[in-house]
Amino acid sequence: MSFDITNVVRKQVLTMIPYQSARRIGYTGTTWLNANELPMSMSLTVKLKDLNRYPEFQSYELINKYSDYVGCLPEQILVTRGADEGIDLLMRVFCEPGVDAIISCPPTYDMYNVCAAITGVKNKICNMGSDWNINVSLILSNIDKVKLIYLCHPNNPTGNLLQLNDIKSILNGVGSSVLVVIDEAYIEFALNYSVVSWISEFPNLIVLRTLSKSFGLAGIRCGFTIAHSSVIQMLSKVIAPYPLSTPVIDIALCALNTNNIQLMKDRVDILMENKYWLINKLNNISIVERVFLSFTNYILVKFISCDSVFNYLIQQGVVLRNQNKKLHLTGCIRITIGTREECEYLIKLLQKISS
Ligand SMILES: *Cc1c(COP(=O)(O)O)cnc(C)c1O
Repeated sequence: MSFDITNVVRKQVLTMIPYQSARRIGYTGTTWLNANELPMSMSLTVKLKDLNRYPEFQSYELINKYSDYVGCLPEQILVTRGADEGIDLLMRVFCEPGVDAIISCPPTYDMYNVCAAITGVKNKICNMGSDWNINVSLILSNIDKVKLIYLCHPNNPTGNLLQLNDIKSILNGVGSSVLVVIDEAYIEFALNYSVVSWISEFPNLIVLRTLSKSFGLAGIRCGFTIAHSSVIQMLSKVIAPYPLSTPVIDIALCALNTNNIQLMKDRVDILMENKYWLINKLNNISIVERVFLSFTNYILVKFISCDSVFNYLIQQGVVLRNQNKKLHLTGCIRITIGTREECEYLIKLLQKISS
């Protein structure tokens, strides 16, 4: 039987470009500074019992623990398989394919666009300015048919915070039939700037959080969607019946113990020290054109002949994230802050090719 996949697959899927995740890009290396992961793991013990039973739909204990950590009510929280599931779930619940639209503001996290393409929802792109602030009036003039606005705060890959006044202007300006999603994946690196406490004031605000970045648990896939309880109720209707496995729930519970929250904070401090060390060294390297201000565990750096720097480092086993082809990011590479040793190795290599 001759078989042609193009006769069966959805047109959207046939033509789409999949998300270029760090583990899919296909490099080999020894020093992984391309996925904004923490360079150290939490060592946690998990009880592997009751695995014959399905997990709870939403772990009561985990929701309660996270609600203490984040300062919201349990009914305002949904646990998801990473923040990525939240991004996708929101579109499936709130956007009618082929009718409704979302807004995203590049340069930003690619998953908003990828999920929109898969769901068949139009993404009305409202570019950031070259100062990487969102264009509030452009967004507000584009909200026809829009149900969701995705804003990343601090923004990936640029590392800057959005202006809190701009977020407030969007929340007030869009009205009650548009939801504003603030992706706070990196907020523990800039905790004073979180908007999660605004949830009670703005029923159209949704905040996304994750254990993948500051908690160093990218491997367990655990995230949180925080919003008005009526939004959470709608999401609960559509989410998979058992979104998180029992071991993942156990690990997440352990990570949110008082001691481990303190460990997370201490590690954030260590990484911030490494970051300042790295920025200082980079500023003294001749092929570095500019190091951008960062409120996260990564920095965006503009290089002279960026592609050859990137390829040279790959050959040396150091994997970074090349942003050269993205809007406003010509010549830029994103560098995740690793251990001090990893930062030193990177600097050594950069000094070598710039001398
Ligand atoms: C890493 C990242 C996510 C995804 O987090 P997971 O919880 O690992 O799915 C979401 N948003 C941004 C901006 C990220 O950088």
